[in-house]
Amino acid sequence: MALIVKKFGGSSVATTEKIMAVAERVLREKKPEDKMVVVVSAMGDTTDDLIAMAKELNADPYAFPREMDMLLSTGEQITISLLAMAFQKLGQPSVALTGAQAGIEANHSYTKGRILNVKPERVKKELALGKVVVVAGFQGVNGSGDIVTLGRGGSDTSAVALAGGLQADVCEIFTDVDGVYSADPRVVASAKKMQEITYNEMLELARLGAVVMQPRSVEMGMHYGVPIHVRSTFSQNDGTIIKEVCDVEEKESVVRGVAHDSNVAKIAVLGVPDQPGIAYSIFSELSKANVDVDMIVQSVRNEEKNIIDMLFTVAKSDLPKAKAISEEIGRQMKAGGVQVDDSVAKVSVVGAGMLGHPGIAAEMFGALGKAGINIEVISTSEISISCLIQAEHVKTAVNAIHDCFFKKEA
Ligand code: ASP
Ligand code: MG
Repeated sequence: MALIVKKFGGSSVATTEKIMAVAERVLREKKPEDKMVVVVSAMGDTTDDLIAMAKELNADPYAFPREMDMLLSTGEQITISLLAMAFQKLGQPSVALTGAQAGIEANHSYTKGRILNVKPERVKKELALGKVVVVAGFQGVNGSGDIVTLGRGGSDTSAVALAGGLQADVCEIFTDVDGVYSADPRVVASAKKMQEITYNEMLELARLGAVVMQPRSVEMGMHYGVPIHVRSTFSQNDGTIIKEVCDVEEKESVVRGVAHDSNVAKIAVLGVPDQPGIAYSIFSELSKANVDVDMIVQSVRNEEKNIIDMLFTVAKSDLPKAKAISEEIGRQMKAGGVQVDDSVAKVSVVGAGMLGHPGIAAEMFGALGKAGINIEVISTSEISISCLIQAEHVKTAVNAIHDCFFKKEA
């Protein structure tokens, strides 16, 4: 017997026909003794449509975050009720549960909630009665008894957390790609599907721009030690398994994947006096404003003038805020000025074995150099190396780097 949590996203349940197809597929794959929990997102573009409706009333509907969550959570409730009906139509006992009924407890951060705890007693009870349990993704309940949504794409996180809370054997995420690739297959034609990848590598790839999984859902899997199987809604093939340690020794072992992120902007505060506390004053203000700073570089001191340049990157959406803060601090410190560039992108390589292989960085820089692409900023972690480049070169860069690491054995 296995306990399996399956998650189907919005495009997989976009119509009632598709909802019926999901029910049929789940039953086809279910052995009689298996226990099944199915987590679903809102049908098709429902969440976007709900947001659009709220915007008709108010340009910034997120000004009412509690009511926004009350609204957005209805999307998933439509899907769970219809899917549970589809199962019953097929003769399979089933029950639809909201996030709260499934015991998904979240904090009070309306519209970007975090799961604090999963207490799936009700789910267990229904499973024991032989039902397929259908749970609304993307929502939890907070200590005030209010619905909180988990951020866009949050159903993955719901599914993995529930799988963790139930100590499920696996959490299967059904999506429109058939697994995790060594690079975005829409950008690199020769990208390879991975059989397995570690939580750490997947988290790093997701953080560095790979969109296949929400980083938070990978964290959840790591926290509970639940294997996550990313696979296609449209085929029966195995996808990619995300887990603690990989069993299959894949040939291209050191670099596992290449990621890119074009949602990046660069800010340079020029001619900053070189004194203790300067970095603190810039970055503490940014952090107070909730701006996440990524790559940071401080230039070598200009001996004559005793000044430095401070350069960092932020998400494009944070640029207006970050620019205003930097200009204000710049004025206070009598810096030379602030420059911004929102036409940059970050390309990265990820691999857990990278630490003991100093040649990887050189190979990556060589690939970019040969392609005639200038590197503006470099940053590294234990399992990744990232380069900031001009955004117009991102496709060429990702292909050049991917060829360099993955074409060798071919
Ligand atoms: N329906 C929500 C969204 O569109 C959650 C999800 O799809 O995972 O973001
Ligand atoms: Mg959706």
